[in-house]
Amino acid sequence: MTQASSRISGFHKLAISERIEKTLEFAGISEPSVAEHFQNTGNLPADLADRLIENAVGTMNIPLGIATNLRIDGRDYLIPMATEESSVVAAVCNAARQCYDAGGFTTSMSSTCMIAQIQLVDIPDPENCRIAILERLDEIRDICNACDPVLVEHGGGFRDLEVRVLRAGGRAMVITHLIVDTRDAMGANAVNTMAETLAPHIAKWTGGRVYLRILSNLADRRLARARCVWRSEDIGGTEVRDGIIAAYEFAATDPYRAATHNKGIMNGVTAVVMATGNDTRAVEAGAHAYAARNGHYGSLTHWEVTASGDLAGSIEMPMAVGLIGGATKLHPTARACLEIMGVENAAHLARLIAAVGLAQNFSALKALATVGVQKGHMSLHSQNIALMAGAVGDEIGIVAERLVELGTVRVDIAEQELKKLRSGQ
Ligand code: NAD
Repeated sequence: MTQASSRISGFHKLAISERIEKTLEFAGISEPSVAEHFQNTGNLPADLADRLIENAVGTMNIPLGIATNLRIDGRDYLIPMATEESSVVAAVCNAARQCYDAGGFTTSMSSTCMIAQIQLVDIPDPENCRIAILERLDEIRDICNACDPVLVEHGGGFRDLEVRVLRAGGRAMVITHLIVDTRDAMGANAVNTMAETLAPHIAKWTGGRVYLRILSNLADRRLARARCVWRSEDIGGTEVRDGIIAAYEFAATDPYRAATHNKGIMNGVTAVVMATGNDTRAVEAGAHAYAARNGHYGSLTHWEVTASGDLAGSIEMPMAVGLIGGATKLHPTARACLEIMGVENAAHLARLIAAVGLAQNFSALKALATVGVQKGHMSLHSQNIALMAGAVGDEIGIVAERLVELGTVRVDIAEQELKKLRSGQ
């Protein structure tokens, strides 16, 4: 069979239905139900999907769950989470239940400032250039703010200037940081525009050449924080508490463990970032860069024993999320999720997400330090395995339960159990 060509000129100009047709033709799929499947875009209108990205052929639905039991800064919340992974929502609900009576989570935020970087090269006197750029503070402020009067009107805009000299490959480069308060916007476009507008001025002032002009996802001026005390008696005693501390100490010293520890935190964080139409990659890049900021990849959370013998958990991480821009305002599900949470501004949303990240970490560490993650995970996962084995309707629950009873959640066992069920055994 000859391979079809992927060189399709003008694919973006086609209607969605024509793109689907071309794609399926390429893949040799003639089953009409596949085209129908793509045409069903669910609760995201096809024309909106087509405006959000290029070459759209459909939407990718993933489950949206609600995390309950959350008490944050003295107020109760229901928090929507979009995730395909079983046990993520349950983990947050469980952690939040175990600290609800003790008062729940307390959160804060450093600021809503983003950093844009401008790279200047081909300069013999980098230190001299550095000072020359810093001298232009007032001019730079005016140039940046003139780029975005709407942002300034909303209380945002240029805040500060930082200039660093870096050396790589035997050459020096001068890196200018624009520190910009982007308020309720995540701010990538806003600060990128400022960096691009300012760059030619920097080249002119210094006689150097500018290369990159883009935001940094290491948004360490935009740190969301949450803390919480779980009373030892509410979590199963001091042995559980000490197990959690030991699990944390492992993550704090070993990057192999820290990667998984932080992945667990991001299970919660990314699910809320996604549910609110925010940029999951931006938050993830920021989280991991922040976790490695001391030259050693470590934990985004900290766990300690309080004077009263209880368990104190805290989290601090960059949280570049917004309520304006990107898909946040456009995606109908994201809008509804923000309404359910009752968020007032981007900083409020960021603080709630930090609390969810901390809750997620608590549940993961508690499971690891006690029964292991598989027990909780597998009982939910068994339903997915039953589905994979071909179970339908009531069969799903029956097969899943059987897998849990057997203590072996495997698709081959699920197939055997399904066969038995269907043959009346
Ligand atoms: P945007 O440019 O769509 O909207 C932000 C603008 O909205 C502001 O510049 C301002 O003019 C206006 N605005 C109105 N009311 C405001 C308020 N209350 N607070 C703040 N601004 C207000 O969006 P953005 O936030 O600049 O950019 C976000 C998008 O950029 C996301 O889709 C993200 O995925 C994308 N992006 C990310 C990266 C990255 O992370 N590396 C790079 C490029 C683009």
